Amino acid sequence: MIILQGIGASEGLAIAEPFYLEKIDLSVTELDNQNQDVELKRFQDALVKAEKQLDELYLKTKEINEESAEVFEVHKMLIRDLDFTEGVEALIKKGKNAEYAVDSTALKYQKLLEAMDNEIMQARSADVLDIRNRLIKILKQIEDVNTVPTEKFILLSEELLPSEIVKFDKRQVAGIVSKVGSITSHAAILARTLNIPFVVGLNRFDEIPHFGIIALDGQTGEVIINPDKKKTEYYHKKIIEVEKLQKELEGYRGKKAITKSGKKVIIGANIGNVQEVDLVIENDADAVGLFRSEFIYLDSNDYPSENKQFAIYKNVLSKLAPKNVIIRTLDIGADKVVDYFKLGKEDNPALGYRAIRICLNEPEIFKTQLRALYRASKYGNLSIMFPMITHIEQVSEIKEIIKEVKQELDQENIAYDHDIQLGIMIETPAAVMISDKLAGMVDFFSIGTNDLTQYTLACDRMNSKISMLFNQGHESVLNMIALTAKNAHKAGIWVGICGESAGDLSLLDFYLEHNIDELSVSPSKVLRLKKAIIEK
Ligand code: PEP
Ligand code: MG
Repeated sequence: MIILQGIGASEGLAIAEPFYLEKIDLSVTELDNQNQDVELKRFQDALVKAEKQLDELYLKTKEINEESAEVFEVHKMLIRDLDFTEGVEALIKKGKNAEYAVDSTALKYQKLLEAMDNEIMQARSADVLDIRNRLIKILKQIEDVNTVPTEKFILLSEELLPSEIVKFDKRQVAGIVSKVGSITSHAAILARTLNIPFVVGLNRFDEIPHFGIIALDGQTGEVIINPDKKKTEYYHKKIIEVEKLQKELEGYRGKKAITKSGKKVIIGANIGNVQEVDLVIENDADAVGLFRSEFIYLDSNDYPSENKQFAIYKNVLSKLAPKNVIIRTLDIGADKVVDYFKLGKEDNPALGYRAIRICLNEPEIFKTQLRALYRASKYGNLSIMFPMITHIEQVSEIKEIIKEVKQELDQENIAYDHDIQLGIMIETPAAVMISDKLAGMVDFFSIGTNDLTQYTLACDRMNSKISMLFNQGHESVLNMIALTAKNAHKAGIWVGICGESAGDLSLLDFYLEHNIDELSVSPSKVLRLKKAIIEK
């Protein structure tokens, strides 16, 4: 037994076999003047091999769950779809290499499917991506090192990206350990949302074998390699206790978060995709205080179309109506890297070209999202919020663009909610210091304490070496929150907190004292927060 120490990034305990996530390079180079016969044969052989793999996966999965196995049948159908194979062959006949032909035909297919105003067809786009990756792996002769185990496992990754977590079946991931990363990295935020125990910043990560048993505690950051009998029993016992606490919290479902003195706080949930809507309902959140729309972009291979986004927003809003859902517009950059944006490498990405700065510089991308949001607005109770505001002019520009979007929709006779509340994130010291002026321009503020802490303390939220300095309860950050709340209330608008510290119970008295109107946390923390407020 070896005990290692990392940083607890998502609470909970897990004990299971490890599964090491190899990073595989599935990029493709375009080659011309290739030998057609050779490339055609490579493609045909790859199809046969892929089918064989899919048959095996089907049989293996069927033993566990018949329904889950069907996806491999669908993949088999897609792989032999004539439009697809003929598309690939046509490119090969033009002299292209098989890898490029598969990649380019699959991408064309994905775009077609994503543009459809139909969720089932849109979901097929992910299947096309799977097929593309399977064929490319075969063509590049990459061993399928990442065949996911069928039992629950502990995911080991040098550096886990949010887009990688979303690719797994969440029910299978018992816990995650990563070598780098931090508590406020988006992979960690996602893990908390999904209630998956997560330990980051494990310096001795390379000592973990890729087999055996691993136990982890996502609160203390403890990772144990091959725990002995005593530790194993302890972990199993603790897991049962956590389940018991969870049951106790169930009693708070249906209750409003009101303190004994009558102060009411709206408890929101932070989510990043449609599947998490169920968690919002399950955990009885009053609202969605933050929908991180960038996860839609992170989960795509290309810019998500207006129709694709519309279908997602419509789905979220209608499922949650009449609950208020605050959808934040695209917030990429820094640790949220989306390849097709081709943002390039920056020396200081957290201070660089990101979030609203991209949207205002590339209004077509922004307008596509806004059109989708406005079109979806009539299906529920939508509010829209804008990230990384630092300048008054940015808010004026946003309003101008919204005016244009509304005019376009009016001309096209498309109905939308004319009273959508518009808010901004207060997550830079600049926004705090001009919050008196900003408050007159919007309907609400939502304080993003993750970035606000990073910028106030000049402390990179991603850097595990300085995680000791990253303190969301630092006096300077609390003063920023107090000033923001004062200016919001003076202007008659409401203010919420949607950064990670919203769920920090040691700060709850401070939030109540400053009359914070909404606290938005990971769905798994909603009931605990509700209980704490009711007991105040
Ligand atoms: C924040 O910065 O606090 C926030 C909620 O946004 P994100 O964590 O997505 O940057
Ligand atoms: Mg932020």
